[in-house]
Amino acid sequence: MENYSSLVTKQRSFFRSGKTKDISFRMGALQKLRIAIQNHEDDLLKALKMDLNKSEFEAYTTEIGILLSEISFTLSNLKSWIKPEKVKTPMTHIGTTGYVYSEPYGVSLIISPWNYPFQLAIAPLIGAIAAGNCAIIKPSELTPKTSEVLAKLIKETFEEEYISAILGGVETSTALLNENLDYIFFTGSVSVGQIVMEAAAKHLTPVTLELGGKSPTIVHEDAKLKLAAKRIAWGKFINAGQTCVAPDYVYVHQSIKTEFLQELKMAIHELYGDIPLQNEDYTRIVSEKHYNRLQSFLNNGSIYTGGKTKSEGLIIEPTVLTDITWKDPVMQDEIFGPILPILEYKELSEAIEGIHHHPKPLALYLFSESASIQQKVLNSVSFGGGCINDTVYHLSSPYLPFGGVGPSGSGAYHGKASFDTFSHKKSILKQTTLFDIPFRYPNVKDGLKKIKMFLK
Ligand code: NAD
Repeated sequence: MENYSSLVTKQRSFFRSGKTKDISFRMGALQKLRIAIQNHEDDLLKALKMDLNKSEFEAYTTEIGILLSEISFTLSNLKSWIKPEKVKTPMTHIGTTGYVYSEPYGVSLIISPWNYPFQLAIAPLIGAIAAGNCAIIKPSELTPKTSEVLAKLIKETFEEEYISAILGGVETSTALLNENLDYIFFTGSVSVGQIVMEAAAKHLTPVTLELGGKSPTIVHEDAKLKLAAKRIAWGKFINAGQTCVAPDYVYVHQSIKTEFLQELKMAIHELYGDIPLQNEDYTRIVSEKHYNRLQSFLNNGSIYTGGKTKSEGLIIEPTVLTDITWKDPVMQDEIFGPILPILEYKELSEAIEGIHHHPKPLALYLFSESASIQQKVLNSVSFGGGCINDTVYHLSSPYLPFGGVGPSGSGAYHGKASFDTFSHKKSILKQTTLFDIPFRYPNVKDGLKKIKMFLK
């Protein structure tokens, strides 16, 4: 197995030089990153087309534009984020002031998946740079063209003692995880998340896990069905369903099921045309293994719309399955493909109960006009984050920290949350030397009595 200790040592000694902590160095690095992304835009678009058949529209919005706007947001706010935060002082601490310093961890490792292969490697990097860390990126081996452009871009832009990208698969990832790192940021599957957490435990390295799971969508009887159907179709079939926060399945109220399904079918036609298999802009499935796994779900329940596949090119039509129960294979794990099973409910409590029987999801979407229904769902179900009357859109607001809970992940990022994730919050109390309150000392007469007046 390869050994990356010399790279980690090099980065750690660069980190200790203090350069990465300098605000102008961080801003300069973010500006360089922005220019590098802009200069490689064509290469990235081509690579994403080859790896996943991503259209220029999808590739630009979800992989390039989103990063450029994250960099701009970070550059506009970084000066205020890095200031030590002054906090309140309690009566018992008169004479002191309290500060929380944001301190970079040091050498961070970013491991990323294949579904948004550029965005999910670079978005955490923006946080790592902003917070003043060095970084090693291990992009996905399943999207080799994009990962190659990414590695080239990083190599041309940064010294490897500061930021480096290492290409490779599981072995490379395992070797990197064996190193003593200062922070690990992992995006990927639940099972590999467990491996990463175990590796982190060896050195007690703090870790962020951005994982996946089955994200439910509830369509209540009072929802605006046409809009709901369009927003669900968009969130589900963008990137051919290979999105961590894609609606995994829909729970629809029995009374509006037929109408909702009709609207959903129309929305799919509107977005992907009459013959999606011939739509040149429709994303393909990443690998034959995933294509075969997804194809095996097509005989679950009944196909309401879609269901056609093209093995040459690894394409699966946007597909809606009805007559589905929790026992069907399609309901066992995260689908991560363009297949949308529909479950129905009569009482909202049945849907909530169904969700409760499964691990806490990364996202949840609810379509309902009623504030009390919205509140009921938000109060009863734990999930990473989500939307009311939309899908997926929450992840692109820099003001909303993005992440899972428990089995769908821990920690969050985007916007300031990225800066916070890559910063240790160091609490400092500055004490006065002008006077010394005596009660805490054991030799003071009636000290305990006075302490009891304060500490209650
Ligand atoms: P994956 O877990 O198979 O791979 C992710 C990364 O881990 C890759 O770089 C891979 O090389 C590495 N890896 C794989 N096996 C490893 C092992 N045994 N030891 C160490 N490293 C290993 O995930 P994937 O298939 O690339 O991505 C799909 C998954 O990622 C889905 O579950 C999806 O929900 C999740 N995801 C989550 C988010 C999020 O933001 N929460 C975003 C995208 C994808």
